[in-house]
Amino acid sequence: MSDWLRIAEHIAARWAILAIDTLLVAFLIYRLLLLAKGTRAYQVLIGLLVFVLALYLSDALGLETIHWLLDRMTTLGPVALVILFFPELRRVLETIGRVEFWRSSFGAANTEPIQRAINEVVSAVQQMARDRIGALIVWERKDRVAEGNGIELQAEITSPLLRTIFYPGSPLHDGAVILRNAEIVEAAVYFPEISQNPDIPSSMHTRHRAGIGITENSDCISIIVSEETGQITVAVDGAWTQNVDADHLRRLLSDLLTGEARPRILERMGVTLSNVRKSRAERHANKRTEEKTA
Ligand code: ATP
Ligand code: MG
Repeated sequence: MSDWLRIAEHIAARWAILAIDTLLVAFLIYRLLLLAKGTRAYQVLIGLLVFVLALYLSDALGLETIHWLLDRMTTLGPVALVILFFPELRRVLETIGRVEFWRSSFGAANTEPIQRAINEVVSAVQQMARDRIGALIVWERKDRVAEGNGIELQAEITSPLLRTIFYPGSPLHDGAVILRNAEIVEAAVYFPEISQNPDIPSSMHTRHRAGIGITENSDCISIIVSEETGQITVAVDGAWTQNVDADHLRRLLSDLLTGEARPRILERMGVTLSNVRKSRAERHANKRTEEKTA
């Protein structure tokens, strides 16, 4: 009897371990899919899952030839992945090689370049809105949007450069500009899909729909300047805010890109404090000059 019990216990333990193992693998796959969602890696991951399933099924069903063929193909897998993800791999290696990467990984991230870039974008957008120059600027966050189907660039974000790109007649003015951190990475990007959201006002056409659409599948921020009305629209997560002014845009971008936007009241307090500091410094300086002349 005790032998039976021991066997039952053994089987139960094996099942528990198997269940934990399976759950862990399922969780890992789920996290990987979440991570890759909205990027090109997502489709490749789905393809990989189908391949693994086919490999397993062909073995289980005894389809020897197919299984042999798929099995041979697995040896090519790593090479195929390197070829497919060559641009991404290059970018990852380049990022790891930068001092900024290590600084942001092991210490407080330096948000100064981003803040500077935000000011440049706000200035460009403000001027383009005033001049009724249509623009679509997409700022990446965690997800990759730039896929190389536009014109690749590696340029510091500056207001004159952004305005030059969108200047009507410039070869790059059509389509979107993609920003990553404080760099312009691509221009003249045409997104293959535009939003089908029925709530989008009928006055918004393809530029707005493309800008909103790209935020539906990735965590990027779209800034759209209307050529027709000069209005600025910001879209995130498939939702949009119309008629954004420069101040609002700056705070939105600071919040979304650095998490550092301060409520308006704090900004006002900051201004008041700096005024107090300034007037105190002035008073000190005056006192010193008075003392010297006395
Ligand atoms: P506006 O208010 O500026 O007129 P809109 O929402 O009315 O914008 P359209 O007038 O159709 O849109 O804007 C056309 C321009 O939008 C194109 O010339 C191109 O630069 C841009 N655009 C359109 N579709 C896409 C797309 N899929 N991806 C990127 N840019 C696009
Ligand atoms: Mg239009």
